[in-house]
Amino acid sequence: MPLELVQGDIAAQTTCAVVTAANKELMGGGGVDGVIHRAAGPELLRAIRPLGGTPTGTAVITPAFGLAAQGVQYVIHAVGPIWRGGQAGEAELLAGAHRHSLRLALENGCGSVAFPSISTGVYGYPVEKAAPIALAAIAEVLAARPDLTVRVVLYDVGNLHVFQRAWARIEGRQV
Ligand code: ADP
Repeated sequence: MPLELVQGDIAAQTTCAVVTAANKELMGGGGVDGVIHRAAGPELLRAIRPLGGTPTGTAVITPAFGLAAQGVQYVIHAVGPIWRGGQAGEAELLAGAHRHSLRLALENGCGSVAFPSISTGVYGYPVEKAAPIALAAIAEVLAARPDLTVRVVLYDVGNLHVFQRAWARIEGRQV
């Protein structure tokens, strides 16, 4: 299945679409969102501000502005849940943010998408719990659309290993 797990910087990717971990107000934030906004330039914030926000578990798509220089056509602003202990619908919201992002990429003709590890930074979602949910949502779409390539870009090697183990379990390999 065309899934790639790599260590790196989400803002350095050359995929058709790059996903950022946005907040529901779409105001631009820190972490991954700050990195993407700095790389794309101020036009990105000007493009999303008029949308007025999007609910947790959903995503919106804009042009990539400054990131177009490296071949990225779209930024997808996905809003993952804030971790509240696991009983507040977090899993379904995290899966929804991934599914919606992939639908927007496909609707816009993208054959490749790069994701960060949504919600596992400031939003506090434990990465061991988030990884299998993110990957299961991605795998579901890839099963129907094997022409799509999805890359998950992990900033640190510890998170990369968590995602690698979760993916091995989804593929039925025990690690
Ligand atoms: P959220 O608010 O959804 O939790 P964050 O941006 O705080 O989003 O963090 C999400 C994840 O992105 C964290 O695991 C963090 O380590 C990782 N991260 C931080 N900087 C980068 C980067 N430049 N590229 C990819 N991932 C990054």
